[in-house]
Amino acid sequence: MPLSDLAVDDQLRAAIDDAVASGWWSMGPRVAELEQRFAALCEVRHAIAVSSGTAALHLSLLAIGCGPGDEVILPSLTFVAAANMVLAVGATPVFCDVTGEHDLNLSIDDVRRRITPSSKALLLVHYGGHPCDMDGVMQLAAEHGLHVIEDAAHAPGARWKGRPCGGIGALGCFSFFSNKNLPVGEGGMVTTEDDELAERVRLGRSHGMTTLTWDRHRGHAAGYDVLAPGYNYRLDELRAAIGIVQLDRLLEANATRARHVEHYRKALAGIDGITVPFAPDGFDGPDGSGRDGCVPAHHLQVVLLPSGTDRDALRVRLTEAGVQTSVHYPPIHRFTAYRDLGAHDMPVTDAIADRLLTLPLYPHMTNEQVELVSSALARAMETLA
Ligand SMILES: *Cc1c(COP(=O)(O)O)cnc(C)c1O
Repeated sequence: MPLSDLAVDDQLRAAIDDAVASGWWSMGPRVAELEQRFAALCEVRHAIAVSSGTAALHLSLLAIGCGPGDEVILPSLTFVAAANMVLAVGATPVFCDVTGEHDLNLSIDDVRRRITPSSKALLLVHYGGHPCDMDGVMQLAAEHGLHVIEDAAHAPGARWKGRPCGGIGALGCFSFFSNKNLPVGEGGMVTTEDDELAERVRLGRSHGMTTLTWDRHRGHAAGYDVLAPGYNYRLDELRAAIGIVQLDRLLEANATRARHVEHYRKALAGIDGITVPFAPDGFDGPDGSGRDGCVPAHHLQVVLLPSGTDRDALRVRLTEAGVQTSVHYPPIHRFTAYRDLGAHDMPVTDAIADRLLTLPLYPHMTNEQVELVSSALARAMETLA
């Protein structure tokens, strides 16, 4: 049982074959189509395809003018790419705590405590595809003039009170890495409603150049100017071809994930000491709805082990039982590169960090496999007790 797994079929092969046969492999019409469809998914005016989720974060931070002297508040319990990109633009990451055992998203009260005159942006993550409290986030951000960047790498197709995650803040950042809900291999997307931010992201994606090779190829442009130094963060046609097929399947795949999660919750309820975050009634219901208009994308099946469990030993037992597990995430403030940045007082994150365990979850797994993982976890815990 791998942590996540790709389904490969003829439709995907045919899409790649078509892209190869087209003879145009760099950014072109398939990228444009993927962008158009992704913008529709997120109900925004602009979706800009990029080479990775990390590139999306980098360009988003640059687009809001984030740089030296600025502070960016972000949870410590997220993937390190977010903090790395804050440092890459010369700004300072300020880590915040999560809400609690049952809500692993950022704590708005804790974010409020960390705001200073230098705070420029709030870079949130919809942890595991569970939407943050975007009402609270947007209100706090408006009060203090903070830009909101949504790291929606876990949350394509998720909704907060009817609105698509990644389409609520100033910018949304998505990843198409192989283990994400919309797997391409490598790739990403920036979403925004703001024309000016979109233009800055577009320029940054391709060397700061005013026109693309594709436009010149079609005779739409003769030359180009360079308006600002940029990068090569473009997506190519082969990846876009895969992305279009995966996008067609996204919402159904998310619904299937929700059914597996419901099954997990039942199977795990019988194991003493196991806590399943985001589970309580009225948070998001087992059918994936719950709070009115809130639909999680269910990127991860995370559980909290009882305090004091030897997680490493438990994971070895699970590996021996054929079950791959992971940890989302080792808190960023504990990494060598971040340890000495600030005081790091994060009681909730520190209390749960060593108890986190991620179980296998992907659309084409079966009910039997969910039960197999759950009973393997129960057995492993018994043998360790
Ligand atoms: C995967 C991921 C990223 C980075 O995306 P890449 O496409 O791998 O660069 C950023 N943030 C979160 C929360 C992620 O899960």
